[in-house]
Amino acid sequence: MSDGDLRERVAEACRVLGALDLTKAATGHVSARIPGSNHALVRARGPGELGVRYTTAKQIIEVDLDGKLIGPPEEAGLETPIEVFIHTAVYRARPDVNAVVHVHPTTVVLFTICNKPLLPLYGAYDPGSLQLALEGIPTYERSILISTPELGAELARAIGQSSTCMMRGHGITTVGASVEEAALAAIHLNDLATVNYQARLLGDPVPIPKDEQDAFRRGPASPGGGAGRRVAALWRYYCALTGA
Ligand SMILES: [Zn+2]
Repeated sequence: MSDGDLRERVAEACRVLGALDLTKAATGHVSARIPGSNHALVRARGPGELGVRYTTAKQIIEVDLDGKLIGPPEEAGLETPIEVFIHTAVYRARPDVNAVVHVHPTTVVLFTICNKPLLPLYGAYDPGSLQLALEGIPTYERSILISTPELGAELARAIGQSSTCMMRGHGITTVGASVEEAALAAIHLNDLATVNYQARLLGDPVPIPKDEQDAFRRGPASPGGGAGRRVAALWRYYCALTGA
């Protein structure tokens, strides 16, 4: 895959997550590791910027794992995001990760503010997002901007081997082997929080029974193909839904 293709996939993921209202106004970023290098592509700050939802490939910059701008040249006016260290620290800590999403979804943030857990409340309704509740979602307890390499490393430690992390009073970071996987993890986490939120409004939510949780923990049957195909199909759906 060329750098240009990867740039477009990072921009497309930004547009999907923005259109789904997964972040607060214009903030947030998606990145991808450039295969075979110690560099990554990430959404930039800069002139004419319209926020995550309207990101184009022109707003994607290349950085090294110290968070230093590699290109395009400074004259283009594009700057690294303040929280670029979220991305660089995860790439340093997790060789299995090729993409990172950082956004500020209000519903998830509410659960960190109120110290409420995200419970496994449903089964076949949405096994993809249920899986996150079964795995357990770590929380990074600080609410500050991740503006230094040290804070990035601290967040990466909180994420550990998980695919998602809630950040108290701030947002979420999700990771994946591909841009699509990391973006879908963010969508799943937001879906899980949305149902938990609505269930708490309606009454006293009850988790599904332990034996059913165990059945889903073993993984869903996949008569129609493997995990890669499911990710691709779901991603096509969200791209079509949002017109991204
Ligand atoms: Zn943030």
